[in-house]
Amino acid sequence: SIVVTGATGHLGRHVVRQLLEKVPADRITAVVRDRDKAADLAARGVRLAVADYNSPETFDGLFAAGDRVLLISGNEFDKGRVQQHTVVIEAARKAGVALLAYTSAPSSLTAALADDHRATEDALVGSGLPYVLLRNGWYHENYTEQLAPVLEHGAVVQAAGEGRISSASRADYAAAAVAVLTGEGHENKAYELGGDEAWSFDEYATELSRQTGREIVYTPVSTEAYTGILTGAGLPGPLAAVLAGVDGSIEKGELVVTTGDLSRLAGRPTTPLAEAVSAALKD
Ligand code: NDP
Repeated sequence: SIVVTGATGHLGRHVVRQLLEKVPADRITAVVRDRDKAADLAARGVRLAVADYNSPETFDGLFAAGDRVLLISGNEFDKGRVQQHTVVIEAARKAGVALLAYTSAPSSLTAALADDHRATEDALVGSGLPYVLLRNGWYHENYTEQLAPVLEHGAVVQAAGEGRISSASRADYAAAAVAVLTGEGHENKAYELGGDEAWSFDEYATELSRQTGREIVYTPVSTEAYTGILTGAGLPGPLAAVLAGVDGSIEKGELVVTTGDLSRLAGRPTTPLAEAVSAALKD
């Protein structure tokens, strides 16, 4: 089987949808926490396995020898993601899976957010399993799904200076994961994944202006000011600090990826930011 964890998340749904175009549904297992949330996947013939990264016993017997597994990193920052991911790696090791691919972060990213990914990579490589490190760069959607305050204030407010980002759409990263899960020769490789074109927040604001016909400007602010804006908008302090740390990394160019690995694996150019903006404005 091809087994996908986090299958009811945004990225996981893209992966399962794209897998269904390539392999029979009964060869795909979606690992989910909530069966009801996966009813649409079950209806398409995808097998479901219910498990939670926080409960190691739920992974007992879930994997079989020869499975190809995609471990999609979790989003519970306060629950020890390294421990959670290690639960999956350990279960996969015991079962003797053929491949375990993990959605990591670019090796250039030094922001605190990357720490869990580095430690998970170490656990995976140390497990002795055939692995693939999918070092995903940033999603377009991190920005294009947060347009309400931007449109309200006519301003893109970030603490990233003139930094550039090689983002791509979730569907692009999913295509890379599917290529690895269904292709050959990816064992023990690390892919640095990002969009073909890097852009700055100034260029992003210009694109938003062009597509909305309204004046939208980039307002670079300090890390402190940005943290304050985020907490003022209701984000918990620690999360605001993590996001401000990411902007610091962007300013230093740590989210620029120039390998071309993503379009090579996907077999096509990555989705332009302008296309993601246009899709978001239609929603
Ligand atoms: P989502 O938040 O949409 O999905 C996260 C998935 O992880 C969900 O399916 C969720 O399950 C699952 N999950 C979380 N905790 C557990 C747990 N304890 N046990 C089992 N499953 C769990 O994120 P995306 O799909 O957009 O992105 C995938 C991952 O990539 C994120 O979780 C995060 O690690 C990372 N990320 C990357 C970004 C980037 O720009 N590269 C941006 C944001 C996140 P459920 O469906 O039940 O909630």
